[in-house]
Amino acid sequence: MNYNIAVIPGDGIGPEIITEAKKVLDRIGENYGHSFQYTEVLMGGVSIDATGVPLTEEALETAKNSDSVLLGAVGGNVGQSNWYNLPPHLRPEAGLLAIRKGLNLFANIRPAVLYDELKGACPLKDEIIGDGFDFVVMRELTGGLYFGARHTTEENGVRKATDTLVYDEKEIKRIARWGFEIAMKRGKKVCSVDKANVLDSSRLWRQVTKEVAKEYPEVELTDMLVDNCAMQLVKNPRQFDVILTENMFGDILSDEASMITGSIGMLASASLGDTKLGLYEPSHGSAPDIAGQNKANPIATILSAAMMLRYSFDLEKEADSIEAAVKAVLKKGYRTVDIMSESMKLVGTREMGELIKAEI
Ligand code: NAD
Repeated sequence: MNYNIAVIPGDGIGPEIITEAKKVLDRIGENYGHSFQYTEVLMGGVSIDATGVPLTEEALETAKNSDSVLLGAVGGNVGQSNWYNLPPHLRPEAGLLAIRKGLNLFANIRPAVLYDELKGACPLKDEIIGDGFDFVVMRELTGGLYFGARHTTEENGVRKATDTLVYDEKEIKRIARWGFEIAMKRGKKVCSVDKANVLDSSRLWRQVTKEVAKEYPEVELTDMLVDNCAMQLVKNPRQFDVILTENMFGDILSDEASMITGSIGMLASASLGDTKLGLYEPSHGSAPDIAGQNKANPIATILSAAMMLRYSFDLEKEADSIEAAVKAVLKKGYRTVDIMSESMKLVGTREMGELIKAEI
């Protein structure tokens, strides 16, 4: 098959890590008979320098017309770069919000995988992590408390601030469907996380999720209160497959989940909408402190590319083979500086990309 991928290298380490992800995708293409065409899209600081805005209409159109989008990272050194003298809507990160909105992406998936080889980076005890864990946090991205009406008033000298948390059943249904779809491609377990003992929006979330579950009889659905989930993530993370939750709970739980995996350079992510077109990117930023030094870990971006194959293109075997290659390279003891430990072999960005490619 032929796939058109919009590629956004962005700023800082973005171009370096994207180069390695493309190398790996090209090897997949050769081995499995696919062709990946890349169209480069300017976004972030590089776009500001070239066009005056962080994402042009044409750039967004190119992304919309692609089969999927692969993003490195955007942004510069906040204290030093001139980009941050601009008003907020013209800064590099505004490009991220614009592309997510423009592509109507409402579901965010962040895998939390602890590889056996990187157990040392996990802050949990050995008896808790066992031989590692592998789950995803699926977060609703465009509704709930962060998007509800808000205002601050003052009555009789007392300041009062109000935020509103609203979800309608359509918003819940569409994210729940993605949750079950992803579970079908994984361990067939969904844990829906809410605060149904207090919040009406959570009670609706629970009802609608149960209704959607009827369409997926093979998937086991459980409910968990968000406070309990926060505890279970550090007590027994191995119980989870897909954690499905609303925007604010997902914001907090996905950060907790990434902390227990250790390194930021390993964390992939995907944002999805109503169609197969998704935005795939590492969870980390543009790391200006190490940009251009061949030090960045490209694995999060390479694993994001694997997610693109799995979720946007339904290329399961191909995605599996990238993930297996990453594991094999770690098993052989190769490490970038962020995941380096004693007696391991230190490699740079390019070498890590080459090693993973060679395993495929
Ligand atoms: P960051 O994630 O870029 O870096 C945090 C630390 O982790 C740094 O020490 C960095 O060197 C290290 N690091 C990050 N990715 C790494 C990798 N792949 N390999 C090895 N080390 C890695 O976060 P920050 O420093 O807070 O932000 C830097 C810039 O990135 C800012 O302009 C910020 O706005 C932007 N940012 C962009 C995105 C995005 O594009 N999605 C996300 C977060 C931050």
